Amino acid sequence: MSPASGCTIRVFDSLSRQVIPLPLSEDGGHPGGRTLKLYVCGVTPYDSGHMGHAFTFCAFDLLVRWAEASGVRVRYVQNVTDVDDPLFERARRDGVGWKELADREVGRLLEDMRALGWRPPDVMPRVSAEIPAILAAVDRLVERGFAYQTDALYYAAGRYPDYGGLSHLSRRSMLRKLRDEGLLGEVGPGAKRDPLDFPLWRRSAPDEPSWPSRYGEGRPGWHIECSAMSMRYLGDQVDVHGGGRDLCFSHHESERAQSESLTGCVPFSRAWMHTGMVRYRGHKMSKSLGNLVVVPEALARVPAAALRLYLVAHRYRRDWSFRWEGLVGAARLIAEAAELLRRRGALDPGGRVRPFDAAKAGGRRGAPQEAAPDLVARFSAAMDDDLDTPRAVRALRAAVRRADAAGAGWMLRILCGEAALT
Ligand code: ZN
Repeated sequence: MSPASGCTIRVFDSLSRQVIPLPLSEDGGHPGGRTLKLYVCGVTPYDSGHMGHAFTFCAFDLLVRWAEASGVRVRYVQNVTDVDDPLFERARRDGVGWKELADREVGRLLEDMRALGWRPPDVMPRVSAEIPAILAAVDRLVERGFAYQTDALYYAAGRYPDYGGLSHLSRRSMLRKLRDEGLLGEVGPGAKRDPLDFPLWRRSAPDEPSWPSRYGEGRPGWHIECSAMSMRYLGDQVDVHGGGRDLCFSHHESERAQSESLTGCVPFSRAWMHTGMVRYRGHKMSKSLGNLVVVPEALARVPAAALRLYLVAHRYRRDWSFRWEGLVGAARLIAEAAELLRRRGALDPGGRVRPFDAAKAGGRRGAPQEAAPDLVARFSAAMDDDLDTPRAVRALRAAVRRADAAGAGWMLRILCGEAALT
């Protein structure tokens, strides 16, 4: 890493299972500068508003904000999987068009994330608008001999020797997971050759969208969609590819295999970051279990910055349980911080922390000169250490207790982004 970037962030990479320096690329437009090329797997828009999604996107927003505070330019791509089985199944069940359902749910997601103060991704490609790029990726895999056609066009997972290496799963565990998720499919002469193979292109049901291709009318498989969009907007290699840990296998495992197969560029991603699962009342939050807490439900009770702080106060890669008492605790700290900042005129009329005058910034990570240096150092060390947010929040708490409005405001701009404190 170039010292010119001044970036000392370290992150946990799921592939090597180690904490490594945050990989950065040359910034083409700025000699000596560094860019973070970040791709995060977005939602299948049938069930947005989910606290698990909000947790994941807030975690990556923290990475974006902390990298930017560290002098790194960030190019952030987050896709929308609007061509996928769960969306079509939900549309069928509810008797609505898939496109209508997708538009409505994407609208809800954007509304929630705007309230939670994210710095929006630079590009949010939708699969339905990316079919030419996806088919081009499929063609390259076919030309290189990684695919075969039976009842669908499949990627031959056995052609990639390290299949399973990212998720660190044995063949038996991978098969069990596919079975549990209903993704095993048929094996036989007119279907898959190996149960680990997965579709690149498949026939659409009559009520599903379909596009012409040399493999017949149909639609793409899930995994190739992300590989193609990642390459289209960020090139053959990304610095960080992220998402919820439930995507590690089979989605990211498959993306990695086919991306490296088709470009020959290894590694496809220089780091893989996965966020933990959010539980509620003892189980993973899910609509089918009826234990879903959605963002608007929490926002009806507390200011947006309180929900945001409650989410990011949990370290991104650990599983945790949503508790209403925890949210109330975060709201208390936000109320104290808001009171302090209001007295100093540091809140705008919308209740957001005013941006700092860059000229007055003290230098390190853009913190204001008048912020207590020991707290700035504590906060920075915590964030550099694989986004250790529980420690960073303790530094924020100390700043509020000491009535260090400059320090607290600076920390809140990173932890809570543009979310309103009141
Ligand atoms: Zn993806």
